[in-house]
Amino acid sequence: MPKLQTHKPRLATVGSRLAVMQPGSWRTDKQSSTQRGYTYKWQQARAGYLVSHPFCVYCLREHGITTQDTDEQLAQLAAKGVGRLPFASVVDHIEPHRGNMTLFWDKTNWQSLYATHHSADKQREEAQQG
Ligand SMILES: [Zn+2]
Repeated sequence: MPKLQTHKPRLATVGSRLAVMQPGSWRTDKQSSTQRGYTYKWQQARAGYLVSHPFCVYCLREHGITTQDTDEQLAQLAAKGVGRLPFASVVDHIEPHRGNMTLFWDKTNWQSLYATHHSADKQREEAQQG
């Protein structure tokens, strides 16, 4: 029975390849980001939040604006002669959720950020929080 004899070694090879591929592979990373809560539901909630909170909180703060109300933000920007700010592109967790789903979905813990020009500020804050 030569066929059976060649079948077994092939299975063993496939098994060892899977074992080698899993740790640190992109598949593992993608899976864990979903497990951390970054699901389709999050994408929808995030999009809705960005509509109602379109401006970057760091940019607003730079202009001394702390209100959460978009109309009020626009009024204050106009009064300061700033015009429109760039739209935020990400929803950030003010307090890092670290897998805590209550903190993850708490909208009072969310803030809109324009990621590319404030990631350094944000990282500094998180480092200070320890
Ligand atoms: Zn900004």
